[in-house]
Amino acid sequence: MNLREAEKTIAELREQISRHDYLYYVLAEPEISDQHYDKLYRQLLDLETQYPDLVTPESPTQRVGGQPLEGFAQVTHAVPMLSIDNTYNEGELREFDRRVAKGLSGERYTYVLDPKIDGVAISLRYEEGQLVLAATRGDGERGDDITQNARTIRAIPLRLKAGGDLFSGKIPEVVEVRGEVFWPTADFEKYNKQREAAGEPTFANPRNATAGTLKQLDSRIVAQRRLSFMAHGFGRIEPLSVESHWDLFQRFKAWGIPTNPHIKRVEDIDAVVREIHAWDKKRHAMAYATDGVVVKVDCIDQRRKLGVTSRSPRWCIAYKFAAERARTRLHSVRFQVGKLGTITPVANLEPVLLAGTTVKSASLHNFDQIERLGVRVGDFVYVEKAGEIIPQVVEVDEKDRPKDTRPIMPPEQCPVCSSKTVRDEGGVFLRCVSPACPAQIKERLRYFCGRDQMDIEGVGTALAEQLVDSGLVTEFADLYCLKDRREELVALERMGPKSADNLLAAIEKSKGNPLSRLLAALNIQHVGVNTAELLAERFGSMDALLAADAEELQEIEGIGPEVATSIIEFMHGKGGKRTIEHLRSIGVNRTEPKRNRSAEYRYFFDKTIVVTGTLERFSRQEAEDLIKSRGGRTAGSVSGKTAFVVAGKNPGSKLDKARDFGVEVIDETEFIIRAGMSS
Ligand SMILES: [Zn+2]
Repeated sequence: MNLREAEKTIAELREQISRHDYLYYVLAEPEISDQHYDKLYRQLLDLETQYPDLVTPESPTQRVGGQPLEGFAQVTHAVPMLSIDNTYNEGELREFDRRVAKGLSGERYTYVLDPKIDGVAISLRYEEGQLVLAATRGDGERGDDITQNARTIRAIPLRLKAGGDLFSGKIPEVVEVRGEVFWPTADFEKYNKQREAAGEPTFANPRNATAGTLKQLDSRIVAQRRLSFMAHGFGRIEPLSVESHWDLFQRFKAWGIPTNPHIKRVEDIDAVVREIHAWDKKRHAMAYATDGVVVKVDCIDQRRKLGVTSRSPRWCIAYKFAAERARTRLHSVRFQVGKLGTITPVANLEPVLLAGTTVKSASLHNFDQIERLGVRVGDFVYVEKAGEIIPQVVEVDEKDRPKDTRPIMPPEQCPVCSSKTVRDEGGVFLRCVSPACPAQIKERLRYFCGRDQMDIEGVGTALAEQLVDSGLVTEFADLYCLKDRREELVALERMGPKSADNLLAAIEKSKGNPLSRLLAALNIQHVGVNTAELLAERFGSMDALLAADAEELQEIEGIGPEVATSIIEFMHGKGGKRTIEHLRSIGVNRTEPKRNRSAEYRYFFDKTIVVTGTLERFSRQEAEDLIKSRGGRTAGSVSGKTAFVVAGKNPGSKLDKARDFGVEVIDETEFIIRAGMSS
């Protein structure tokens, strides 16, 4: 390829990528899978690496920028970002409508309704179509300059599209977009699962996690978390050629700015109330959390007439849905020790009914959270279930604080093994660092035997506890010696000869697992299933991996300095070295089979895959044969064990199930790519 051809291909790829961003974020009608998109992106990145002179700031590859910042600069908003009045009841909503009617003295008016996404409000400034500034709301007058971080969010266009057929007019010189950055629920949960698997503390909820992410000084971290964005308002627009919010938002869409597809324009307050009730029913099925509906007067001139109070506009109100919450008393706090020693405070509550179940405890997450809430032992607290299964303490009833409350003190000793606790850098998390801590050994053992690790069925929390407490297992290698202590094993409560033999057989079988599973099972900090596979694939054997240094590890895409250090520290630290040596001496496999290393096998080998719906190029049988020919298994229904779902036309209920389990869904094109059959 010569320079001119490269230039042309780069321009085409950029055009395609920005078109797919538009289809995905603005029209919500993606034409290609995420994997296909990633492929285009990688092609562009490769070409730009070859021809660095052709890189421009608005290339999609330039979203992740440069060096971490030292801090955020403060910026003043051209138009203040006011807060919006809230209400939880219909009466107040109608009262708001009466004030609007009075303020407009008889003029006709209409409302626009916009679902209120539970995220973080920001302002984006475009000058001559280019994104020049992104800022947090701050105190409404001044916020932080987070441009570098906002650029990493794919939903935020770096450059506005010229209006297309819809509007012949030019993009105004200055366009300030106000909107919400949020973390789509499924992506958030997936990210939390990865953190959990890698032994890192999980985030409490998507909104706090989004706020924390936007304040990261290193934009590369922001880029890894798949935040999204939707516009809900505007600041300065010069020149402004439209008369209503509704019309402006049609232009936003044409310019490539994502807006909520559920925005509605309605005639009067009765219609507002009807829409709000309808929305309350369907909002839980949305890909993001919403906690209400924002009701705004549509006409921009009428907004000016109505004006603002000292804190909020008179033309706008947020109707908020009451969260499912309950008030109860916090009796005490217990501390749980995770597999890598992280100590999590959990509230013991007076049992209370919440969203159909009795709640006895709620997570307090970490000591920062305790401080933020200002919660004390003996307080009356509000607990909520916000999409998550584990209830959260969200608020303290400070007005009704009993006299005898006590502060919650971080434990100086591990609640299980009594060794001294250590605070993480940043001081948010406490850890027990004793390698002999039984709580950690139990958690690690359970994890070692997990489905994505050594896959030894039957070793759950209860059995792991029994094995450790009885002294039968003090380290992983002891599992493989249990066959010599069968009688003691049989004697465990709820065990018996049959289940003992099944367990011993499962343990013996796991010796033959590929290296990737063993690496995933070892509880190396930051090494989950994906990283373990990358390592096994690259090095092929434990011995080769042990011989590698941090630099060689970082040659693998996806492994940064932090992960590399963690691997080296484990492999060559006293505990890790001994663990690996003992597992070797009892004959656990230390190699990765070669056959699944070729590209065609990578996605299929040893995986369970579900095909659903009608494919164009294959019959169901042909697709399943193809999967089997590449070392995979097929199944008729989706479960937690499913690696991914191939969906054709009319896929039916299996898609919902895939979503429930958080299983990846791919289309036929992607299937062909994965099978190595695309030309
Ligand atoms: Zn401990």
